Amino acid sequence: MTPTAPALSAPPPTAPLDPAVALAGLPDAAPAALVWQTCGAAGLIEGLYDDRGGTDPRRLAALLTAVDARGDNGVTLSLLVQAASALPILAAGAPASGPVRDALNRVRSGERPLALAATDSAAAGSDLAGLGTDVTIGPDEIVLNGGKRWITTACAAGWFLVLARHRPGRHFTSFTWVLVPAETPGVRVTPADTDLLVGAATGHVEFTDVRLAPDLLVGRPGRAMPAFARHMGTERLAGALWARALTTRVLADTKERLTRRLVDGRPLWHNSSVRQRFATCLVQVRQLHALSDTLAERITRHQDLAAAALLKSAVGLTVDPVLAVCAQLQGADGLLRDGAQRIRAEAAVFGIGGGVTELLLDTVADHADPWLTELRA
Ligand SMILES: Cc1cc2nc3c(=O)[nH]c(=O)nc-3n(C[C@H](O)[C@H](O)[C@H](O)COP(=O)(O)OP(=O)(O)OC[C@H]3O[C@@H](n4cnc5c(N)ncnc54)[C@H](O)[C@@H]3O)c2cc1C
Repeated sequence: MTPTAPALSAPPPTAPLDPAVALAGLPDAAPAALVWQTCGAAGLIEGLYDDRGGTDPRRLAALLTAVDARGDNGVTLSLLVQAASALPILAAGAPASGPVRDALNRVRSGERPLALAATDSAAAGSDLAGLGTDVTIGPDEIVLNGGKRWITTACAAGWFLVLARHRPGRHFTSFTWVLVPAETPGVRVTPADTDLLVGAATGHVEFTDVRLAPDLLVGRPGRAMPAFARHMGTERLAGALWARALTTRVLADTKERLTRRLVDGRPLWHNSSVRQRFATCLVQVRQLHALSDTLAERITRHQDLAAAALLKSAVGLTVDPVLAVCAQLQGADGLLRDGAQRIRAEAAVFGIGGGVTELLLDTVADHADPWLTELRA
């Protein structure tokens, strides 16, 4: 299938290389670090951002669609978290020079990947303010202790962007970002014990008396949560852009199989019940396309977090039912290695990673009145 970038706003005049062209020469099993390196070298990462750190939704869609077309969901997840979340947060907190700026430049150029380490070993992921990883900030050094779990790209990263607590309590000013080079003594990475999304190189990371120079703090102490919130929307939009690429790919594959599969001499595609179930999925995916097109600029330009929560909720509610129908319609072949049933299991990450669907729906409910006002207008 030839990947086509979905229609968002018109491309900027100096668009970099077509992502599908840049990735064409890579081996099928290219790991996340190599895909990242290739994208960086082709200017595809740098090209995602404007001067003010904003992300271009059309370029993001084109990149995610091209990476998704390679069919390794773990690799796509790795690229997504870095490009849409970790890098923008790092860029926002990087001074004009020093080790954080150097790391930023090296990650952007593709030299080594960056992992975002927020979800903590000491608290539920849905309770970010309860995190236990702490950082002691002294005049000459900072010391980090704690642990992070389920961190995408952990096993391949050159740096960890770590969300840590510099003072007790749940207040949003109690948290700070710290950039930790992966080779620092006291950093220990354990691969996550899973057969799903293997290409994401997901792992758990422990920090034991990790001593760092103070210029590895990212942004001012106390500013981590607002910075995280500001950039969360872009990751949620990226999730929607990937979800629509992935569901479209699986729908196209399913239709092709239904057209070839004969029952009593007729293609299954001609069975009315099959067609209606397939068409229902098509409608759901088309709705997701429309919603992401409508909300993309609100999320990236105006940091509209209510819009981002609505969109991520829609992703969580759409992807699983669509992929479940596709997998069922593929019959036993859905159970093949890397088949539709595996894709469906891997796609569970859309309803968990970066905020569980239930939590997002709570946010939608919180904004019920403004949404209703907008719908009435
Ligand atoms: C493949 C993968 C990659 C990831 N990559 C990263 C990464 O790169 N960096 C990072 O920091 N983290 C990452 N995470 C962690 C992810 O962000 C957390 O898993 C997520 O925030 C949910 O936290 P939890 O798993 O602790 O679930 P919990 O918070 O323990 O929730 C468990 C379940 O309880 C229910 N639930 C929770 N809260 C509510 C609520 N308010 N209302 C109703 N029901 C609720 C939901 O059904 C939820 O699935 C990744 C996770 C996965 C699976």
